Amino acid sequence: MPTVVRQMTMEASMPDVDGPSGYGEVARRVQQVKERIAAACRRAGRTPADVNLIAVSKGHPPEAVRAVHEAGVTFFGENRVQEASQKIPLCPSTLIWHMVGHLQRNKVRKALPLFEMVHSVDSVPLMEVLERECSRLGKVMPVLVEVNVAGESSKYGVAPENLRELLDAAAGCGHLEVRGLMTMPPWSPDPEKVRPYFARLRELLVQAGEKWGHCLVELSMGMSADFEVAIEEGATMVRIGTAVFGRRPQ
Ligand SMILES: *Cc1c(COP(=O)(O)O)cnc(C)c1O
Repeated sequence: MPTVVRQMTMEASMPDVDGPSGYGEVARRVQQVKERIAAACRRAGRTPADVNLIAVSKGHPPEAVRAVHEAGVTFFGENRVQEASQKIPLCPSTLIWHMVGHLQRNKVRKALPLFEMVHSVDSVPLMEVLERECSRLGKVMPVLVEVNVAGESSKYGVAPENLRELLDAAAGCGHLEVRGLMTMPPWSPDPEKVRPYFARLRELLVQAGEKWGHCLVELSMGMSADFEVAIEEGATMVRIGTAVFGRRPQ
């Protein structure tokens, strides 16, 4: 009898997410990630309020998103428009969604109503389509420019030497607000190996800020394997999937 009572009490205090998929774990994971963010901020002499956790929910169902939201996360990221367009309507409407993956020009129209920021602007033609479609909707979209800092052929993003051209083009886009830069560094099991790429992105932001000024302030960098190093190097947005949601199904 006492066992049953204890079980019921525990269930009542947990978000309604336990089940075959095991999303009851997420509250603990979110807490851990937040503590690690705070510790990295302390090491870097920064305040945790300046680092935004974007929970990347690709591959996970709306129940998982809800569980993470109930654990205190508001910002979510998706990397594919198709998946996002099915998932987002099934999630609480108070969530704020960011497009963090490569955006194809023919998906822009479908993407715009779903997202409040695009992290992955990587070409002038994409920027032109975004500008045209935002203008049609009478909407101003905050965006980040994705930079391929390491010059990997397998990755999207502009080469650092082409950043200037992109930002010049952005200056003519009245419906886009370039807020900063994003990068996906080469994968490495050792976060110290990617530190130089994060440092380089920050340098590029500082240089760009000197010329284009004002709103270039965001650095979207750092994922599950390397977000603490990214924060030490100045990240203002960390895009974290696995460390929050657990391993992606399939
Ligand atoms: C999947 C993804 C992430 C999160 O990756 P994890 O290693 O699971 O934290 C971050 N950014 C982008 C663009 C992604 O596609």
